[in-house]
Amino acid sequence: MQEAISHIRSEKRKYILRVQSAALKSIHDYMYENGVVQAMPIILSPETDPLNHPHFDASVEYYGQKLHITKSMILHKQLSLLNDGVDKIYFMSPNVRLEDGKLRESGRHLFEFTQVDIEFKEKTKEDFIKFTDGMIAEVYRRVLKDCPDDLAALDRKLAAPKLPLKVYESADLQRQYGEHFEKVASEAAKDPFWILNYKREFYDREDKKTRGYYHNYDVVWPQGYGEALSGGEREWEHKEILRKMNERNTDMKAFETYLGVSEQGLIPRTVGGGLGIERMVRFLTGQKHIKDVTLFPRVPGERIAF
Ligand code: AMP
Ligand code: MG
Repeated sequence: MQEAISHIRSEKRKYILRVQSAALKSIHDYMYENGVVQAMPIILSPETDPLNHPHFDASVEYYGQKLHITKSMILHKQLSLLNDGVDKIYFMSPNVRLEDGKLRESGRHLFEFTQVDIEFKEKTKEDFIKFTDGMIAEVYRRVLKDCPDDLAALDRKLAAPKLPLKVYESADLQRQYGEHFEKVASEAAKDPFWILNYKREFYDREDKKTRGYYHNYDVVWPQGYGEALSGGEREWEHKEILRKMNERNTDMKAFETYLGVSEQGLIPRTVGGGLGIERMVRFLTGQKHIKDVTLFPRVPGERIAF
């Protein structure tokens, strides 16, 4: 209990919260100015992101129906764009991912965190990259302008990045830096950058001609802070979705409505991504562990007080 109290009362918490507020305001303003509408997130659903890494299940039973706690809004983002009048949407989405306790010391993992989850209809990855470069630049601009004293109190030096942010192919980085290329490239970089093409979930679009090339990406924070955002162009063809679900041994019953929509040929052609808020704030404020940017830490494997 004493630890929880002193964590909340720690002096640096106020500087970090002020930087976070400035960063969030810049994101909301940028969305508003670019016509991206905000919708409210959901917390419980029979269908949610399957995630491509080991984690524990988190669900509740309600009137005989199994409802999963949101791992990401990906499927809901896609279906929200079924509305003809909505082309660009975002959610501030709380995610619960009961991550493996081995990740406790990673400094980058929480088992509850929040994403800015963005999706555009009839746009390409190039459009999304351009949009996101602008958003990241706005975050830096606002924090540097509004929070110089907070950054100084945290002994954090930040410099606005050069636009456009650099874009790399994952295969090239892998050749250069080896298996842990994202980590090594992050440590070597001064500015955030993009990495293209990861083999990921069934909903990320795989090139039909080359098979094996994914039209997706990550944004990576520099100075070793690692992954910032993941996203991509999405699969919309029923046949492709089924093929990729089969390849991944996906339990199709867990995606009944989603597959029902795709069977009717209604999944919109979209592109998007999700930016982790706590990881962004950790980078902006230069914190060693992500728990330091939260008031109520949720570190994998750790007992929580409150
Ligand atoms: P994903 O689509 O799984 O890559 O998640 C989107 C973004 O959320 C990532 O790029 C991270 O910035 C953030 N994120 C994912 N998992 C976690 C976690 N366990 N703790 C904190 N942030 C996370
Ligand atoms: Mg990711």
